[in-house]
Amino acid sequence: MQEKKIIQDYTKEELADFIKPAFRVKQIYTWIYHKYVESFEEMKNLPKEMREQLDAEYTLTPLKTVMVQNSKDGSRKYLFELHDGHTVEAVLLLMREKEYHEDGSLKHHERYTVCISSQVGCKVGCAFCLTAKGGFMRDLTPGEIVEQVRLIKRDNDIDANRRVNLVYMGMGEPLDNLPAVAKAVKIFADPDGMAISPNRQTISTSGLSSKIEKLGKMDLGINLAISLHAVDDALRQQLMPINKAYNIKSIIDAVKNFPVNARKRVMFEYLVIKDVNDDIESAKKLIALLEGIKAKVNLIYFNPYGGTEFKRPEEKDMVAFQEYLTKRGLLCTIRESKGLDISAACGQLREQELENNSKGE
Ligand code: SAH
Ligand code: SF4
Repeated sequence: MQEKKIIQDYTKEELADFIKPAFRVKQIYTWIYHKYVESFEEMKNLPKEMREQLDAEYTLTPLKTVMVQNSKDGSRKYLFELHDGHTVEAVLLLMREKEYHEDGSLKHHERYTVCISSQVGCKVGCAFCLTAKGGFMRDLTPGEIVEQVRLIKRDNDIDANRRVNLVYMGMGEPLDNLPAVAKAVKIFADPDGMAISPNRQTISTSGLSSKIEKLGKMDLGINLAISLHAVDDALRQQLMPINKAYNIKSIIDAVKNFPVNARKRVMFEYLVIKDVNDDIESAKKLIALLEGIKAKVNLIYFNPYGGTEFKRPEEKDMVAFQEYLTKRGLLCTIRESKGLDISAACGQLREQELENNSKGE
């Protein structure tokens, strides 16, 4: 059987090459990304023949939701199945931020962040990461990336006009699938689509320096996050074998060349593991390393899972690490353990599902 093309794989400009007249493409985008339809049949303002033709050629349901887990803090984790049976995860994170009415009174407003996957599995093979354990299966297409957000918005009745932030921090290494990720960034940003501007999208990378340079040259206006996790090459190499190919200095150099939005900073993620990298000496080296970079540091609690040798750090050590940095002028936050009770570090839901399946057999 001939595979149908995934309509979410295409930018509006690309679709306009096949679908005439061009205003039809805008209508189709509205149906898909504002009204969250699941079939071409529902696109009532298109001529019937056009709907039939589109249906013969394209699918608009490349992902199927197979599991949803709710966390006490309101976060929701999704497991999606792709057409070839592989599965990927995405998480809706709810954060509350203060907002004010025009008369000055305070109103609270939910802020949505969606954490999305870019690959099935990952080639990078970090020692602490559950996604790495399953190896690498394949890249996601742009449409498979975009669809994760569309399904989550649909499932949570999130209006097309509501602000959503995106972080490419799910499964996979986004810069190892750069062409598809770069295209997804553009499709997300389309004003007739989800209109998620690149400055509300953050790509997190394990530090493929040459690809950071390449991404910088594309000048997409996107935010950058570096998964640093260690301040010297020997330790980083143990935790992240990719450090052999791209050492810390090469990453710092690449970051220095990266076009950062004037009002933004590069985020350095530091996964804190008990007795591995939670010492003040590391904090001290981190300050030296980030000298001269408009940086912010995000400390992440290591989230343990069955079979790992690593341990969650103690709160007092996290706080001491953070205080050391902030007292010396380095912006530093501790990542709230959002959705910890649903094992929100990506890769963990999928692993659970695979385990359940194998038990059932
Ligand atoms: N491959 C990219 C993006 C996906 S990983 C990258 O590495 O940056 C996203 C984040 O999840 C990384 O910062 C990684 O360190 C973190 N992570 C992986 N395993 C984790 C665990 N067990 N507990 C907490 N965070 C974890
Ligand atoms: Fe891949 Fe990121 Fe996991 Fe490392 S932490 S194995 S780069 S997904």
